[in-house]
Amino acid sequence: MGSLHNQKPEIKTGFPGAIIKPLDPEEFRRQGHLVIDFLADYYNNVDKYPVRSQVEPGYLKKRLPESAPHDAEPIEEILRDVQNDIVPGITHWQSPNYFAYFPSSGSIAGFLGEMLSTGFNVVGFNWMSSPAATELESIVMDWLGKMLELPSEFLFSGGGGGVLQGTTCEAILCTVVAARDRVLRRIGRENINKLVVYGSDQTHSALQKAAQIAGINPGNFRAVETSKSSEFGLTAEAFRAQIESDLKLGLVPLFLCATIGTTSSTAVDPLAPLCAVAKEFNVWVHVDAAYAGSACILPEYRHYLDGVENADSFSFNAHKWFLTTLDCCCLWVKDPSALVKALSTYPEYLRNRASDAKSVIDYKDWQITLSRRFRSMKLWLVLRSYGVANLRKFLRSHVKMAKNFEGLIGMDKRFEVVVPRNFATVCFRISPIEIGGNRQIVSKEEAANNLNAKLLETINESGKIYMTHAVIGGVYVMRFAVGASLTENRHVILAWKVVQEHANALLNSSS
Ligand SMILES: *Cc1c(COP(=O)(O)O)cnc(C)c1O
Repeated sequence: MGSLHNQKPEIKTGFPGAIIKPLDPEEFRRQGHLVIDFLADYYNNVDKYPVRSQVEPGYLKKRLPESAPHDAEPIEEILRDVQNDIVPGITHWQSPNYFAYFPSSGSIAGFLGEMLSTGFNVVGFNWMSSPAATELESIVMDWLGKMLELPSEFLFSGGGGGVLQGTTCEAILCTVVAARDRVLRRIGRENINKLVVYGSDQTHSALQKAAQIAGINPGNFRAVETSKSSEFGLTAEAFRAQIESDLKLGLVPLFLCATIGTTSSTAVDPLAPLCAVAKEFNVWVHVDAAYAGSACILPEYRHYLDGVENADSFSFNAHKWFLTTLDCCCLWVKDPSALVKALSTYPEYLRNRASDAKSVIDYKDWQITLSRRFRSMKLWLVLRSYGVANLRKFLRSHVKMAKNFEGLIGMDKRFEVVVPRNFATVCFRISPIEIGGNRQIVSKEEAANNLNAKLLETINESGKIYMTHAVIGGVYVMRFAVGASLTENRHVILAWKVVQEHANALLNSSS
């Protein structure tokens, strides 16, 4: 029996009753190579799968056993099941034909950085628990801050600092809580019900969730209305008017979340005038650039951040359009002590000399959770493997492809671009003019909304490409977000053909 183990190493883990060796280096090497090969084959074939998964809810329960296996199973068999049972239930975010939501741009560097981070599997809650994890994070955040030309007050070298959070939702929550406690220390905790949080009707729902968790009175959450005339950006005038009416009610303006690149339409809130108003009323400004922050490393896009010098915090998701695998949200604050005062705890079992001497950063005090991943590893690999020049080229190539798509739309009179394209996302639809018939029981706009929703669903059902929608100012739009790492211009041209074919079929059948 013992000789079997030596002949066929894969039987080691599959052999009933064998004592497992969860970190046997040679077995790790062998199985690790199998998984890398599996993923390389996946990327080779990813364009052959329907982009949006076509399974029905509950599909997996029908395929998998009722309970966990009693005995070990070999990796080969598990990978076969990943291929047969899991892959059909995957929506292929890495497909070159993926244009939905915002991208989740994978890369070799991001993936390998993730592997190194997971391989070391350290829990870097404070400096002592893994000095490299903390120090690399601070260094990489200063690097990135310089790439974005953030004012020096946001960098460690200028008294501020950056931290890697999991997602924007966490980053916004942490900054709301920091702002809340800073104000409550001044006006007294009993006044928490007076605090008001501001965004626009285009602000990501992350802000509302953060306000809810932070104990802000639900009646004091303001989604200030935007309109087509300001391209769905929040105007300083509307913000000021809202503040003034809140002050009349005896409320205390607390926090503004301004967005560079909104989720629905990539609208941009004008930072400079908004920050000027906020400053006047002592309001904490957080800049949420989750998607478009990446583009701001391009000199031609940096102007969107003009005014950030008067904001208090800034964040963007490296896991969206920056070749870094999920999750990786980069957050900078001017006043780290505001975060620390709101989020710090120091139990006896974490005490150590470096923390006692306050000579180090303990990132546990900059975030919600205690335990934290070594995320800077993947960002470091991305920055080093590609360099600033190639990252810029990569982003520009996506903007160019989006422009091309826009050009194709312009050549087909049936379609229109609904809001100006700012980055690499195009919001478009079949225009209402195209929708004929005089027996209409609904308005032209409503008919257009219904028709475009129907068109998008038939396109996505085909599995050839995947787009998602938004409703902007009452108008249903299809969003074409370029940014998947494997997308080339030929995919964009093909995508437009798919849209046209489905539109032909739909318009012919409805006229
Ligand atoms: C995607 C997005 C978010 C949410 O990001 P998470 O990291 O998923 O929390 C917030 N704001 C904007 C503008 C976004 O595009």
